[in-house]
Amino acid sequence: MNKGKVNISNAEVLEALKDVTDPEIPVLSLVDMKIIRDVKVDKDEVYVTMTPTFAGCPAIYQMKSDIEEKLRELGFEKVHVDLSFKEPWTTDMLDDEARSKLETFGITPPTKHEGDPTSAMHATAICPHCKSEDTTMENPFGPTLCRMIYYCNACNQPFERFKAL
Ligand SMILES: [Zn+2]
Repeated sequence: MNKGKVNISNAEVLEALKDVTDPEIPVLSLVDMKIIRDVKVDKDEVYVTMTPTFAGCPAIYQMKSDIEEKLRELGFEKVHVDLSFKEPWTTDMLDDEARSKLETFGITPPTKHEGDPTSAMHATAICPHCKSEDTTMENPFGPTLCRMIYYCNACNQPFERFKAL
């Protein structure tokens, strides 16, 4: 490691952070999730701004320490990870690539809601296995805060849906 001299661009830091996955959704990185909002390298220091998906999300500290660990691996001596709540995170920020990764993982992506997540919660959930719309909500509380459990009446399999926020 070159002490005090890290020659890495903002874009390279962002690229490296694609290795840091969401503890609750291992198929998506914190970059895919749009949890990482900003990266700024200043000589041997790096500043990262993150916005957690759910305020009070128990995974915040896990994510923060995973980010810090990754940045130290890159050679930064001073690592700053700041939380920002200025522009709240919403599931509408997930792009098509992130949505299709979720679906492949077996989780129905959150419905786009354009600012009205309540309407999205009541929208039909499409089964990620067989694409049927004949589904029933079994339990609004899945294994984590951000998931709901559904049952597909067409292929008789339970599945999870990412809660719209
Ligand atoms: Zn199905």
